Amino acid sequence: YDLKNEDLRDIHELGQGNGGSVKKVEHVPTGTIMAKKIVLIDAKPSVRKQILRELQIMHDCNSKYIISFYGAFISDPNICICMECMDKGSLDGIYKKIGPIDIDVVGKVALAVLEGLTYLYDVHRIIHRDIKPSNILFNSKGQIKICDFGVSGELINSIADTFVGTSTYMSPERIQGAQYTVKSDVWSLGISLIELALGRFPFADSASDDSDLSDFEGTLSPSRLGPLSTAVHRAPKSREEKDKADKKKKRKSKGVSLQGGGMTMSILELLQHIVNEPAPRLTPEDRFPAEAEDFVDSCLRKDPDMRATPKDLLKHSWVEQAKVSNLDLEAWASTF
Ligand code: ATP
Ligand code: MG
Repeated sequence: YDLKNEDLRDIHELGQGNGGSVKKVEHVPTGTIMAKKIVLIDAKPSVRKQILRELQIMHDCNSKYIISFYGAFISDPNICICMECMDKGSLDGIYKKIGPIDIDVVGKVALAVLEGLTYLYDVHRIIHRDIKPSNILFNSKGQIKICDFGVSGELINSIADTFVGTSTYMSPERIQGAQYTVKSDVWSLGISLIELALGRFPFADSASDDSDLSDFEGTLSPSRLGPLSTAVHRAPKSREEKDKADKKKKRKSKGVSLQGGGMTMSILELLQHIVNEPAPRLTPEDRFPAEAEDFVDSCLRKDPDMRATPKDLLKHSWVEQAKVSNLDLEAWASTF
């Protein structure tokens, strides 16, 4: 495809993230439906061109567990990345719609993500760096694929410049400033799988006695708030929610206060929790098969030296079961 913005007809918006938005579009000359991700990048033209060059590696990423890439182009001041459109969206959207995801489906998710990570790392030496439910996509054919992996070092740098902050799928060693390794992705996978199985972000009621974090809808993503990277800011949805939030804020003053109104809360507490407290587990103990609990425990070893790699985990008994299971994901997809 020789992609140009004027050949792309907007159909509707698929979602918004911190770095920009994603739209379902039609490539009019060929009739191909695509997902167009628009990333606002505050960088020099030379840097943009470098990013575009680096993104071309995605043309060589061919795996059924990785979203296909159609191309990328600059549309000032944005970079547009066109990829395969997954009609059932991301897994965070799915569980928010249908509730906790059946553990056997979660097993298939684990298998797909591990296959995707192993492919990226073994074939391209790429570490994903952003495994979370919103970056695991699903379609009505029952396919599960990962997207938004760190192919472009320049893109990672530019986004880091723009959005100071952090994400709570981050492993303890990353919070403490260690190098990213493929095992950091395994941690993020463990957190994501618990989130899918429980239907809520696993730290939500454990970080604070007052369950301050219950207001989170799963993600603590990069905050746009410059050096105040220890706080996260989410605009309350309704008047009611705002009143509730304000009351909470008065009751507890641990959250870093930010300008601009809305709700503020401390991410520092959560980061400290991840580093200092035992890792979350699949609980209540008896609701899930022992193999699933053990798998998640293997992902969430706090010491990365003790943590398995994606390749090791492909041999885990729970994943072996997922490989041979005759669960029909296409049929499951048709239920929502
Ligand atoms: P963050 O910005 O914190 O990484 P995010 O992953 O949700 O969060 P985006 O990557 O911008 O942000 O994606 C926004 C939403 O668009 C996703 O949550 C997902 O539901 C949807 N989306 C992204 N890519 C696709 C795709 N290829 N097909 C279908 N939906 C997609
Ligand atoms: Mg994403």
